[in-house]
Amino acid sequence: MEEKNLSSDTITFLGTAGARITVTNQVLASGGMWLSLSGTEILLDPGPGCIVQSTKRKLKADKLSAIILSHRHLDHSADVNIMVEAMTRGGFKQHGKLFAPADALGNESVIFSYLKGYLKGIEVLQESKAYSVGNISFTTPIRHIHPVETYGMIFTTPEHTFSYIADSRYFDGLCRSYGGELLIINVVRLKAGHPFDHLAVPDAKNIIAELKPKVAILTHFGMTMWRAKPWEVAEGLSEETGIRVIAARDGMKFDLSQPGNA
Ligand SMILES: [Zn+2]
Repeated sequence: MEEKNLSSDTITFLGTAGARITVTNQVLASGGMWLSLSGTEILLDPGPGCIVQSTKRKLKADKLSAIILSHRHLDHSADVNIMVEAMTRGGFKQHGKLFAPADALGNESVIFSYLKGYLKGIEVLQESKAYSVGNISFTTPIRHIHPVETYGMIFTTPEHTFSYIADSRYFDGLCRSYGGELLIINVVRLKAGHPFDHLAVPDAKNIIAELKPKVAILTHFGMTMWRAKPWEVAEGLSEETGIRVIAARDGMKFDLSQPGNA
């Protein structure tokens, strides 16, 4: 029997690429995030290469209890079918849940219909709703401003609370809706004022200064962020906000239980 570590909460970044060029050229990996929360394994936003990035790190998909999609864009959902196949051992074991917004499951479903039966259930994400996976609960506090239906999440484990702010145009509702000791923010762009519905560094600074987490992690980088060296951007934000800001790296495993992190 494998021991479950019931007091450990870790987040492994299976990629840090966001938007088109960094993803399509695999300048950075784009496999999403693997959450290991008090013995419950959850996969978040399995973008292109998730199956490669997770198996490479010996993360076992059949141990997953759920896969969550913040939205249907390819960089968040491309590997959802293969990851459902892996989670359910090719359908031999009906197992695990999929959580996704309605428009990812409707007429043009991101998941093939033959795979739906492999799952224990599919739950539709909606604004201001709460969900649970084993001993973990999460809420989707507000619909984001993005071309498709998109939600971030606040996760609560027996030990910790943290937020994931998925893709969005900046709006004040983000600051009103999220919280917790850790904030993970998808920061695609370096400079504000671009027509795409994505957060830029000045937006992240606002959010971090407003929500005052113990730690903020930047991820989901587009080319302008990558060229600016995200770790230097993070250092600048730490100085400006007085809050510890770090840039995620491909393969980085962040431990919420480590002293100084929570
Ligand atoms: Zn998107």
